[in-house]
Amino acid sequence: MEPNNCWHCGHAHEASLFCRFCNSLQRPTPDYYRFLGLEPRLHLDPEDLQQRFYRLSRLLHPDRYHRRTSTERQYSLEATAILNDAYRVLRDPVARAEYALKERGFESGERRSKDVPPELLEEVFELNMALEELRDGDTSVRPQLEQARKKFLALQQESDRRLEELFQRYDAVSDRAVLAEIRSVLDRRRYIRNLVGEVEKELV
Ligand SMILES: [Zn+2]
Repeated sequence: MEPNNCWHCGHAHEASLFCRFCNSLQRPTPDYYRFLGLEPRLHLDPEDLQQRFYRLSRLLHPDRYHRRTSTERQYSLEATAILNDAYRVLRDPVARAEYALKERGFESGERRSKDVPPELLEEVFELNMALEELRDGDTSVRPQLEQARKKFLALQQESDRRLEELFQRYDAVSDRAVLAEIRSVLDRRRYIRNLVGEVEKELV
């Protein structure tokens, strides 16, 4: 049977969740966008996303499939798992961007986020010195660390705004150069977030 033919009645269907001839639940696609019936855009409307999530949660709930075939019971479990993952990833702009980059062949940023962004070198150096001093018991550096924490949090928010701009630009032009820019904003953002986490750990 062709992948896009209904497993139950054999009619061709348009990669939708339910066969439009016999209404059987089909094998779910692992593509988060297709699964939710969305265009593959980086900018998403959170309310629309939430409505799609609730609607599909109801339609796919395993309780609805108790009396159906074992194939549909199995698909409803798989589909529910994909739905939950898709919603968790797509509603978070950072996770969504990582997902979209991976789908388009960009490597994950986990490794590269270890490198200090060059424009932050000096501040990161001073921050590490202050952290060291605090660990050695010098509490006089606390105000300096509080300041640094605020500053890096502001930089993180700036990255979030920048990401949203780049999302809209990519949706308009579909240029891989924009994806490369998104990759570097994400790396920088992750670096900053780790730094804020380190400072917060020492300040409690
Ligand atoms: Zn069918």
